[in-house]
Amino acid sequence: MTELSGGAALPQERRVVTAIPGPKSLELQARRLNAVAGGVGSVLPVFTTRAGGGVIEDVDGNSLIDFGSGIAVTSVGASAEAVVRRASAQLADFTHTCFMVTPYEGYVEVCEQLAELTPGDHAKKSALFNSGAEAVENAVKIARAYTKRQAVVVFDHGYHGRTNLTMALTAKNMPYKHGFGPFAPEVYRVPVAYGYRWPTGPENCGPEAAAQAIDQITKQVGAENVAAIIIEPVLGEGGFIEPAKGFLPAIVKFANDNGIVFVADEIQSGFCRTGQWFACEDEGIVPDLITTAKGIAGGLPLAAVTGRAEIMDAAHPGGLGGTYGGNPVACAGALGAIETMRELDLNAKAKRIEEVMKGRLAAMQEKFGIIGDIRGRGAMIAIELVKDPVTKEPNPEAAGALAKACHAEGVLVLTCGTYGNVLRFLPPLVIGEDLLNEGLDIIEAGFAKL
Ligand SMILES: *Cc1c(COP(=O)(O)O)cnc(C)c1O
Repeated sequence: MTELSGGAALPQERRVVTAIPGPKSLELQARRLNAVAGGVGSVLPVFTTRAGGGVIEDVDGNSLIDFGSGIAVTSVGASAEAVVRRASAQLADFTHTCFMVTPYEGYVEVCEQLAELTPGDHAKKSALFNSGAEAVENAVKIARAYTKRQAVVVFDHGYHGRTNLTMALTAKNMPYKHGFGPFAPEVYRVPVAYGYRWPTGPENCGPEAAAQAIDQITKQVGAENVAAIIIEPVLGEGGFIEPAKGFLPAIVKFANDNGIVFVADEIQSGFCRTGQWFACEDEGIVPDLITTAKGIAGGLPLAAVTGRAEIMDAAHPGGLGGTYGGNPVACAGALGAIETMRELDLNAKAKRIEEVMKGRLAAMQEKFGIIGDIRGRGAMIAIELVKDPVTKEPNPEAAGALAKACHAEGVLVLTCGTYGNVLRFLPPLVIGEDLLNEGLDIIEAGFAKL
């Protein structure tokens, strides 16, 4: 595994040598609390010195198994050889010109790669940005310019970012929106096919939820007023909800029939995370626009909107962009990350991670009644914890306690979900299978202790 990560000597092992966080991390945390705004949180305040492959090393000499990938970002590892090599070379050549002032090849090459890798063989173009939220905002601008309509439809449990427009698109109040309004207008939220919690059961969920969503759009908004429908093909922050079978195709058909731009937000689910280049491929969906970020550049900040050339070209020259969008170092990182994904066949690796994780988690579900649901695809897997499998009452306390127990043992896991009761696993796709299993052992021991 070590050869996959830069920082060549970084041992691929879990090592707990102090309490977690250890004394040096606690010291840094005290400084941080003095200097860093309280609104910026950290899941686990261990201060990082090196990371790569499947581990994160901290200032106290601990080595944590990484089941978070910096929120689905470092899919190729946090110091992937090709990313480090290409970004370092670019850094030495030039750091910035602003693509809107004098362009450079790396930006064009990333857009060419995006055209090749995203679903559909129609003519495609891309624009590059710095963050996922910025990509989603720009997808809305482009869709509005193309359709000359204003309304945007989003879904229950959806997450699209923290800027003003994307806060409006995001479903969950706390912590993302609370106290930060007023929010952007012309945003409408409709039901999503959340199979586990659908009143008539998961089998009926896809078609029923699609009918409800479409009914609300036509009755409350008017299809002819809708510029874009935006959805995550696997909902991320909302709890790794896979819309029940049939839901996405029905929504896509409705969008196509009504001249609405269908936007797949693949910021979390894209770039091999779910065992496909993009999660929407699993139901044969070809989005009009697709937003990407997170996994795209091996940890460097980059985001993109990619889509049908005629839609992408609807915005007037100068209408899209930003000072840093498609920074040359980030583009070099993206080309290195994409090279790594192809060379190591990280889609296959993600599918293998799913096989290992789902097998182990299913065995845990038999033993521990509080695992209500196991879901997700590839290396985007989650368990939803409940107080009782019959009532399905959410159990955020158990999720919090389990995450804490894992952290203490040197396994970094994250929680998510509208009810805060979902443990999510997003290991780097290059993690070794021994580390993956060791992480799962710790999770199992955590359940046993609950
Ligand atoms: C993380 C995320 C965003 C926002 O990306 P940032 O880079 O944090 O702005 C948007 N959509 C989805 C689905 C995400 O997971």
